[in-house]
Amino acid sequence: MSETLANLLQETREFPPPAELAAAANVTADAYAEAADDRLGFWAEQARRLDWAKPWDQVLDWSNPPFAKWFVGGELNVAYNCLDRHVAAGRGDKVAIHWEGEPGDTRTLTYSDLHKLTCQAANALTGLGVTAGDRVAIYLPMIPEAAAAMLACARIGATHSVVFGGFSADALSNRIQDASAKVVITADGGYRRGKPSALKPTVDEAVAVSPSIEHVLVVRRTGQEVAWTDKDHWWHETVETASTEHTAAAFDAEHPLFILYTSGTTARPKGILHTTGGYLTQASYTHHAVFDLKPESDVYWCTADIGWVTGHSYIVYGPLSNGATQVMYEGTPDTPHRGRFWEIVDKYKVSILYTAPTLIRTMMKWGDDIPQGYDLSSLRVLGSVGEPINPEAWMWYREHVGRNNAPIVDTWWQTETGAIMISPLPGVTATKPGSAMSPLPGISADVVDDQGESVPNGGGGYLVLREPWPSMLRTIWGDDERFIDTYWSRFAGMYFAGDGAKKDADGHVWLLGRVDDVMLVSGHNISTTEVESALVSHPSVAEAAVVGATDPTTGQAIVAFTIPRGNVDTSGAAGEQLITELRNHVARTLGPIAKPRQIMLVPELPKTRSGKIMRRLLRDVAENRSLGDVTTLQDSSVMELISSGLQSGK
Ligand code: ATP
Ligand code: MG
Repeated sequence: MSETLANLLQETREFPPPAELAAAANVTADAYAEAADDRLGFWAEQARRLDWAKPWDQVLDWSNPPFAKWFVGGELNVAYNCLDRHVAAGRGDKVAIHWEGEPGDTRTLTYSDLHKLTCQAANALTGLGVTAGDRVAIYLPMIPEAAAAMLACARIGATHSVVFGGFSADALSNRIQDASAKVVITADGGYRRGKPSALKPTVDEAVAVSPSIEHVLVVRRTGQEVAWTDKDHWWHETVETASTEHTAAAFDAEHPLFILYTSGTTARPKGILHTTGGYLTQASYTHHAVFDLKPESDVYWCTADIGWVTGHSYIVYGPLSNGATQVMYEGTPDTPHRGRFWEIVDKYKVSILYTAPTLIRTMMKWGDDIPQGYDLSSLRVLGSVGEPINPEAWMWYREHVGRNNAPIVDTWWQTETGAIMISPLPGVTATKPGSAMSPLPGISADVVDDQGESVPNGGGGYLVLREPWPSMLRTIWGDDERFIDTYWSRFAGMYFAGDGAKKDADGHVWLLGRVDDVMLVSGHNISTTEVESALVSHPSVAEAAVVGATDPTTGQAIVAFTIPRGNVDTSGAAGEQLITELRNHVARTLGPIAKPRQIMLVPELPKTRSGKIMRRLLRDVAENRSLGDVTTLQDSSVMELISSGLQSGK
């Protein structure tokens, strides 16, 4: 690349933490200084927040980079740390999960309940011949059994591979075969958009071509008819009849805990391997620090699916290791009505909410009056993850959900990093709309140029991590070569995350999107995020995705796909006029270099099942190519809708 990223967007708004929150915050500014002084000592201190069966001899072994070993020689059990120790400390009656099914049915599980269920599942898996080191695939809806299944694997040292319940038989069998899983845990179905949606037929199809699978454990959730094979076992007959007594053995700190495939936004998904001690240390610490979790008074809710890394680290391992009370919701945000999320916040008095920009932009599109209909005054910390959050979406979240008071923590991290890396601390940081702000204590993130030199404040370039961190991926499952090539080859001695970023005048970090998506216009690298944020700042726009398409004069030209807000007239001349106005609006906001060559008004955008915009498919459309891999696309009809609209010149 010829030039590092142009720094176009200027944002001057700043919001200090509420005084009351700052005065009682779990983590203060001292943590930054402590970690800067002695990084390994800092992480050792955080590891001591957990119960270890055997202490470690060495905090970090980095003698064979990029293959890290953390807490070498230490032993612990993850499920013990998430359950048994809370029960042993007399907190067994505390609610672990307030579960809300989509049809409105509910369940409440205390720490004792979840402990018993996990012990039963551990005994049942052992009975099916699963031993430490075996792989178990989990393909479940958002029901408490999903958490229990993961914890049961951790408890017996089996490595879980959770596959999102919306994936096809192909995607499931690829993931099963990649890890040679022995057992798959599934359900008859789950509720989605107001009706039962079957899972078992997909599993049957996948298992038929996955010879490694010996047993299938099936939770009865919807009661729908299912075909049955001799590999199948009902959960209620196998798990719920097993003994509730189970002693958890301790495992090495580097024992494989789980494999999880990335979202597939940019390429073929990668099987990311995480291990035990370092992962739990950082998942637990960051959940405590970034959300300021007070286990005795907070009600926490992360809206992610358990099939994504956010669900692993911030529904299961982080919150449960910290003894949190949390809400878990099975369904979609608009079933049976568009206020469902706010109704749940109101009902359970949720105090910490962790969600994604795609949901915030959807809520914006639906209208301000919807959250107004509910009492959201319990909310005190708001989190965002998954994509850059446009400043206008951030402001909407602050005003309409956080009542101009609750701090927003925009958390940057990846499946690969295992836990949050860059984020404000809610009691410390004065936040800026759209910025993830600063690396957390103990994390060495930087923005570098083509040569790997740190850029000065005001500059843009590549986001890298300079030092190993406890919850870092250990490899790509079965493919050390791809691990080295993908993450450690671009810059010597640094982990390259694949994202572009800039440092503002104060040195704060702004994520600018994937480097694969960056546009090169007349010799300038321009970020898709900044152009999208400029479009979203126009009152007629709900969402936008921007790509660079080959152009004979400028190298690449900016092409924008834009979803208008619900009440905007886009027919005929009004549509043409809006397009002209939007092109000028971008030029005014960011400068003439960023003016899109073409703006298309579209009804929807292609997204991954975790809600991220898949720009590579839009680039295929903009350049008239056939579409690349669409297996991780949420709704395949979206691409037809977009392409047919374009061909007819709409
Ligand atoms: P693949 O690697 O297969 O393309 P993916 O990168 O979408 O998929 P994830 O690990 O789920 O898979 O997502 C991590 C990515 O999400 C980050 O690299 C970054 O691009 C984006 N991201 C996550 N959080 C933020 C954030 N707060 N701000 C900006 N971008 C974010
Ligand atoms: Mg990625």
